[in-house]
Amino acid sequence: MNKKYDAITIGAGIIGCCVSFELAKKGFRTLNVDKLPSAGYGSTSGSCAIIRFHYSTPDGVALAREGYFYWLDWPNYLGADDESGFAKYVNTGCLVIKTALNKNLVNVMRSLDELGVAYEELDLEGIKKKMPLLDLHGYFPAKLPNDPGFGLPTAPTIAGAIFIPESGYMSDPQLSTHNVQRAVEARGGEFLFNSEVVAIRTHQGRAAGVTLKDGQAIDVPVIINVAGPHSYIINRMAGVEQGMNIKTRALRQEVAHVPAPEGFDYQRDGMIISDGDVGTYSRPEVGNHVLVGSEDPECDEREWVDPDHYNTGFTQQAATQAMRAAQRIQGLRIPNMMQGVVDLYDVSDDWIPIYDKSDLPGFYMAVGTSGNQYKNAPIVGILMAELIEKVEAGHDHDKDPVKFTMKYTRRTCNIGFFSRLRKINRDSSFSVIG
Ligand SMILES: Cc1cc2nc3c(=O)[nH]c(=O)nc-3n(C[C@H](O)[C@H](O)[C@H](O)COP(=O)(O)OP(=O)(O)OC[C@H]3O[C@@H](n4cnc5c(N)ncnc54)[C@H](O)[C@@H]3O)c2cc1C
Repeated sequence: MNKKYDAITIGAGIIGCCVSFELAKKGFRTLNVDKLPSAGYGSTSGSCAIIRFHYSTPDGVALAREGYFYWLDWPNYLGADDESGFAKYVNTGCLVIKTALNKNLVNVMRSLDELGVAYEELDLEGIKKKMPLLDLHGYFPAKLPNDPGFGLPTAPTIAGAIFIPESGYMSDPQLSTHNVQRAVEARGGEFLFNSEVVAIRTHQGRAAGVTLKDGQAIDVPVIINVAGPHSYIINRMAGVEQGMNIKTRALRQEVAHVPAPEGFDYQRDGMIISDGDVGTYSRPEVGNHVLVGSEDPECDEREWVDPDHYNTGFTQQAATQAMRAAQRIQGLRIPNMMQGVVDLYDVSDDWIPIYDKSDLPGFYMAVGTSGNQYKNAPIVGILMAELIEKVEAGHDHDKDPVKFTMKYTRRTCNIGFFSRLRKINRDSSFSVIG
């Protein structure tokens, strides 16, 4: 390939596309390379695409809040048409159950207060008013179905909840990624699909290009690893994994897609529910269905897998999650044949992403998105473009982390928070909550 690019992004998922979009806006000639046939076909396609704010760290809450505004303004932000139409933001509100695990949401409420995000603190009566069909017993800790205590209350009531009205989900994560692809192309960026990167080439101690499976070599001075659950493989190709304090690996996940309780219009009256007490999160889905994911309770074995060889069929896990959600959502229906999604998270050691340079000059990474960074893709694109621009201009990010002011919340984002060199962040939930 004779063309000259300034940057290659490995991966055309939602984050890879947003990184190229922001680089293209800064004048970089970008190329996204993906081994799959279309944008957003990797783990982004399996995403529940929930937009919510209750992260365990103030930086996590702030990034999600900033990201939210881009989804609200989606077609304007992209500034380019898509013949397939635009993905839409659906606002549902988010009910978060207080538990000892989330420290009764004290830190989350402090972060929300600081950012001026409206929320209601609800007692049991308040929760019942919002969602009359909820059972308010405590069930913690989540159990496996073969445990004699499965489904039996362990406490007369939960401790309460908060309701955050400005929360929701994107109607179609794959389409949203296609939307970004079109926006990148409108700015001159290019995409190469069905093309697997098999080697990262270096020259005089710097990233110099990628080699594809068909033997094609593309020279480029900047390479960004946004390969989702394959991120660790790309980092190993570049020889940068050794220099990282925090590493990533692929975790298998199941999401159940179950019919809502009979007679209840879940799309109109349902909401996102994050329920650490029963160990699940859920949201309304089209056709009066409910999507049920896991909040990774301790009793569930974590299935670290080879992202190219794993079981894509359902195990008992999806049904277990649905049964746990049914402890809270009375009347939730559990079909004999489970439907839903089996996909992978790219999990970092502390479930907080790595947005960083590497020890190889010219090689960057936006990885370890740990099942919770779809919502942040637009702001991560901005963050990575700021980082790359500054570091390529000679800034020493490891010594003096790059900072920038976020457009909507007007807060300073210290990119050093997401460093590959950080110590494990003990404030993390060590789960999908982040
Ligand atoms: C089941 C599930 C539910 C989720 N729910 C939510 C949610 O509700 N809210 C939220 O905010 N986040 C959620 N997430 C997380 C979110 O979807 C991800 O963080 C996000 O989609 C990651 O995007 P990405 O672009 O980094 O990676 P991906 O979408 O995985 O894209 C990586 C791309 O890299 C390509 N690639 C890999 N290796 C190579 C190679 N060698 N050569 C070329 N291409 C390569 C792959 O083909 C792939 O297309 C969920 C994730 C899953 C799996």
